[in-house]
Amino acid sequence: MILDGKKIAAEIRGELREQIEALRAAGKRAPKLAIVIVGHNPASETYVANKIKACAEVGIEAEKIAFESEVTETELLAEVQRLNNDPAIDGFIVQLPLPEHICETKILTAIDYRKDVDGLTPENVGRTVQGLPSIISATPRGIRELLARYNIPTEGKHVVVIGRSNIVGKPVALLLMQRPYLSLPGMSASSLGDATVTICHSKTQDLASICRTADIIIVAAGSPKLLTAEMVKPGATIVDVGINRVDDPASPKGYRLVGDVDFEHVEPIAGAITPVPGGVGPMTIVSLLQNTLQAYDLKFDI
Ligand code: NDP
Repeated sequence: MILDGKKIAAEIRGELREQIEALRAAGKRAPKLAIVIVGHNPASETYVANKIKACAEVGIEAEKIAFESEVTETELLAEVQRLNNDPAIDGFIVQLPLPEHICETKILTAIDYRKDVDGLTPENVGRTVQGLPSIISATPRGIRELLARYNIPTEGKHVVVIGRSNIVGKPVALLLMQRPYLSLPGMSASSLGDATVTICHSKTQDLASICRTADIIIVAAGSPKLLTAEMVKPGATIVDVGINRVDDPASPKGYRLVGDVDFEHVEPIAGAITPVPGGVGPMTIVSLLQNTLQAYDLKFDI
């Protein structure tokens, strides 16, 4: 079975549109997301354009705030403080990567966690660890939602996560091992969580044997064809987070996007698998929209 992130993301956008129309019908303002972008990295510009388009589709107001790459860290921190204090902004993100002269950690940790719709601040991660209301980073939230919508249970399952980044590997592992009390407003299937999780990385020994014991494998390494058919137990669920450019003279762009899974050989033995593109990517963007509505709605009174 193909886990069709594009289709599920479209369904969720439809639901969000209805929820936001209902807010407007009740005389309330629309949620508002601000996106800060620095410089002219083409990939970042595409991601930001896609996020703004997705906001428009569901009725979230979006504001792009662009800085030239010469902006100083102090100026960017001042903008973060301005957005933290602006009551008209429900949530904002700072598109990564930032130029080298700006410390990403300094910028991210300056964001008020209640507006941190990327879910990357230490407060949000720490609150997630403790099961307090928090905003979960978009890709892990999207993965959990995709599994939920395809009724793939995680309770008692062995989940192997390949990758230990702060953006994907660590938070997705945390989310799937949690007690289900972490269910959030607007999130389906509160039964998700309760998995037994193994986290692997580049120093892991005998990755293949570990993977063969997995009911669910989540690969977020950034390495094409890292997960091969020999590493997969028949019937396992495979979630491919990787986005890699590989040369392809047949494509007009000269390259194509592939994940971290040897899809051609893994797909026939997997019980369920996400394609790249069209799997986790669209779920990540729609999760950002869900997080924005959550920031608009959620009262962090703990
Ligand atoms: P990072 O580079 O921050 O982390 C990669 C992780 O994978 C590291 O922990 C690294 O181990 C591990 N790793 C790398 N190679 C191997 C290997 N051969 N065996 C075992 N572990 C390995 O990447 P991100 O987490 O930010 O992103 C991962 C991928 O997901 C990228 O392709 C990225 O483009 C994509 N991505 C996709 C998103 C989407 O929406 N679909 C969203 C975010 C990312 P170590 O820690 O030891 O170095």
